[in-house]
Amino acid sequence: MMRIKLPNSYFEDHESTIRLIWRETLYADFEKKLLERAIKRKFRIKTTISAEDGYLIVDAENEEIERLITFLIQSHLGEFLRSRYTKRKVLYIHEGMNVPLLGYNAFGLIDRGTNLIQVRGSTGCNVSCIFCSVDEGPYSRTRILDYVVDVDYLLKWFDEVAQFKGKGLEAHLDGQGEPLLYPFIVELVQGLRENPNVNIISMQSNGILLSDKLIEELAEAGLDRVNLSIHSLDPEKAKMLMGMKNYDLNHVLEMAEALINAGIDVLFAPVIIFGINDMEAEAFIEFARRIGAGKRWPALGFQNYVPYKFGRHPSVRFLSFKKFYTWLRELEEKTGMRPLVLKPEHFGMHKRRFIPLEFHVGEVVKAKIILPGRIEGEMLAVARNRLIEVINTHAKVGEEIKVKIVRTRHGIYVGMPI
Ligand code: SF4
Repeated sequence: MMRIKLPNSYFEDHESTIRLIWRETLYADFEKKLLERAIKRKFRIKTTISAEDGYLIVDAENEEIERLITFLIQSHLGEFLRSRYTKRKVLYIHEGMNVPLLGYNAFGLIDRGTNLIQVRGSTGCNVSCIFCSVDEGPYSRTRILDYVVDVDYLLKWFDEVAQFKGKGLEAHLDGQGEPLLYPFIVELVQGLRENPNVNIISMQSNGILLSDKLIEELAEAGLDRVNLSIHSLDPEKAKMLMGMKNYDLNHVLEMAEALINAGIDVLFAPVIIFGINDMEAEAFIEFARRIGAGKRWPALGFQNYVPYKFGRHPSVRFLSFKKFYTWLRELEEKTGMRPLVLKPEHFGMHKRRFIPLEFHVGEVVKAKIILPGRIEGEMLAVARNRLIEVINTHAKVGEEIKVKIVRTRHGIYVGMPI
């Protein structure tokens, strides 16, 4: 009997398949029959494969067999990789693929002309908020796959961008989804901390996947702040807003306190939908005060709900930004909690030279399709060491096509085939 385990992972038995759980957030299923057949073909012996206590078990004793199984699993991992939370197929992006990490908004880096760089290691979310602007989560109707970027590769690109942008940067981990789904989140924070141009490391999160252990690791790695998305202090309403029946509000509130106790600042970022949770604003302020949120940065960042073209739309009314700011100023007056109207200065943010654009709107470029996009009819192409999201296309990976650039805002390139 042999017991096999691979680094950072464990096995589960699922009737006809063996499931490898890798770094808690990803998995890959392997047919037992296929593995057994591979052993039979090579070693001419009949074996049975199962899993127990996290180990893969083969009822034979032979180091060569162990090597074969390990090789088969590792070499096919990329092909079978899925997200444990969205169940979608995951494309693992590593250095050898030559995928630029600038140009696309679902993964990589985004420079919006300030000293803050958005760092996006993965896509996908563990909840399905009813107002999500990117239609994320397990119940998404439009997203067909997820990406995970290898951490060393992401840090390498970050370093190049950081060298251009200069000292005093804030690295902000966010994305189309929940950053804690990134399998290398601690390593990413650690790597950013070692970058001489980075001052602040902050992260967006819904907090569900936080634990005391993870908070300790993130604090040690050097995380400075979490912008925590909590939308209601009423457990039932919170479940409704997050589109998740087993959402545990209490756990998230406990984790908010644990973050602060570990020296990581918290900014609560509720999305306010008028008529649904605006009446909870004072309770949020009260709670933030009680646990000591907002030590170095504002404690609250109320956000106005606005419907997005590709997002989900609950049928609710929404306020103009002018009215929303009036509402915030009234809250400041009433509660004495300041600032609630947030400005870039509150975060030490200032304008910085943009990484120069590689394309201009209207330009036609020859681009090579290298990856499928996140939604039907979308592909990712590369030209001049930048990614371009090509929309309305049926082109296949490997094809070279002519693309007309239709959008370049903040170095995010969108193109259409011509
Ligand atoms: S709003 Fe954020 S937390 Fe909610 S589903 Fe979308 S990505 Fe996830």
